[in-house]
Amino acid sequence: MSIVQEITQDSIQVAKDYVHQVYEAVIQRNPHESEFHQAVKEIFDSLVPVFAKYPTYIKHGILERISEPERLITFRVPWVDDRGQVQVNRGFRVQFNSSLGPYKGGLRFHPSVNASIIKFLGFEQTFKNSLTGQPIGGGKGGSDFDPKGKSDGEIMRFTQSFMTELCKYIGPDEDVPAGDIGVGAREIGYMFGQYKRIRGGFEAGVLTGKGIGYGGSLARKEATGYGTVYFVQEMLKDAGLSFDGSTVVVSGSGNVSIYAIEKASQLGAKVVACSDSNGYVYDPAGINLDTVKRLKEVERSRISEYVKVHPTASYYEGCTGIWSIPCDIALPCATQNEIDDESARLLVANGVKAVAEGANMPSSLEAIEVFLESGVLFGPAKAANAGGVAVSALEMAQNSMRLSWTFEEVDAKLHIIMTNIYRNSVKAAEEYGYPGNLVVGANIAGFIRVADAAIAQGVI
Ligand code: NDP
Repeated sequence: MSIVQEITQDSIQVAKDYVHQVYEAVIQRNPHESEFHQAVKEIFDSLVPVFAKYPTYIKHGILERISEPERLITFRVPWVDDRGQVQVNRGFRVQFNSSLGPYKGGLRFHPSVNASIIKFLGFEQTFKNSLTGQPIGGGKGGSDFDPKGKSDGEIMRFTQSFMTELCKYIGPDEDVPAGDIGVGAREIGYMFGQYKRIRGGFEAGVLTGKGIGYGGSLARKEATGYGTVYFVQEMLKDAGLSFDGSTVVVSGSGNVSIYAIEKASQLGAKVVACSDSNGYVYDPAGINLDTVKRLKEVERSRISEYVKVHPTASYYEGCTGIWSIPCDIALPCATQNEIDDESARLLVANGVKAVAEGANMPSSLEAIEVFLESGVLFGPAKAANAGGVAVSALEMAQNSMRLSWTFEEVDAKLHIIMTNIYRNSVKAAEEYGYPGNLVVGANIAGFIRVADAAIAQGVI
């Protein structure tokens, strides 16, 4: 935006009124969608200084446009379970914003999935994808299907039915889904197979997170967890700290958690705890990642099994207790709203120095306030966990070129992207008067790229 005005009390008030008015309209138009409201509020509040400086964004109705998805698709997913019984789930795809490129974002299979969750994720994804600097728009999708306890055959029949409908709306230049909670390499494989069968062509770029043998990228599996740790490395470096010799707590034991634990350990940290949706393990000797990988990636069993092999560890039922473990660095990598203000205060009281969100929106708005007010280094999700989608975009690039980069090449590019996201967020925070506040910095840096592209493309 070129028309700059001096930031005054008056211009700030006009910007605040604008943000408030659009936020109220979002709540009216999307009743009962608390997760979506939370994500919108977090971003909108950060943008007040941008509108105070560049009021022409207001004239272009940019918040009204950016908070309304371009398209929300819901569909029936019928399938037959192992007993011969017909089951019906609901499928979703939100195509939120295509200003920067094809819609891009994962698919989540979890009973909690509904329109609010998918819209919060799609909205966040738009800004995250923008932050990576790559040509990708924002989308997200999934189903209320619960993969837990399902046989391989049931997973295949469900994913095939899901893709039979979804395939009408996606394509390498239109919309490129990937994995998320409950959707890993197995599910992506089945969905890719079904897409290929229906379309009658090998369009490798239609999904990312594919197996290495048929168009997947090396380092995609590791990317989100590694990327979060690279981001934290930069935060720590600026504060004169490092992972080496630090104590780390990582929630979850899924894709993001496992590779966050791996990279933090490689950098000399001791990771002492991880969890699943039933409880957490605390191992003062340091979590044995081989055991976690076996339990979660191979046997698909519960984290409680860990203590059977490692007598130094203890298992505790429930998820929030993990935040009572004293640590230098906390990496919430499981799910949304897993840290409330009480858990945040406990972490601060126990001396946490840095918190970075590997999961999407794991900290409540109140918890983020606690971290920022206490001077804890805080890496928000859309910046800290952008490594997954960044490498997904690199997978799309490799598919387009019909060649593959080595693990080291992809990892090096990921490292550069995460460092740039950190630097751009720091710079935006400083420029708009919030030095050190990466929540504001990431929101502003992500917003400006999307907003300018949307305005350049006219009122569409
Ligand atoms: P996975 O399904 O691989 O793992 C999720 C993990 O979190 C599992 O261990 C799960 O346990 C655990 N979990 C779920 N709910 C809770 C809870 N309430 N308390 C504690 N643990 C819980 O998913 P991902 O690792 O892929 O995703 C994790 C988060 O990261 C999500 O927020 C996702 O949106 C985000 N993300 C993922 C990216 C990716 O590339 N995969 C990219 C960017 C963000 P259980 O097995 O019992 O369900």
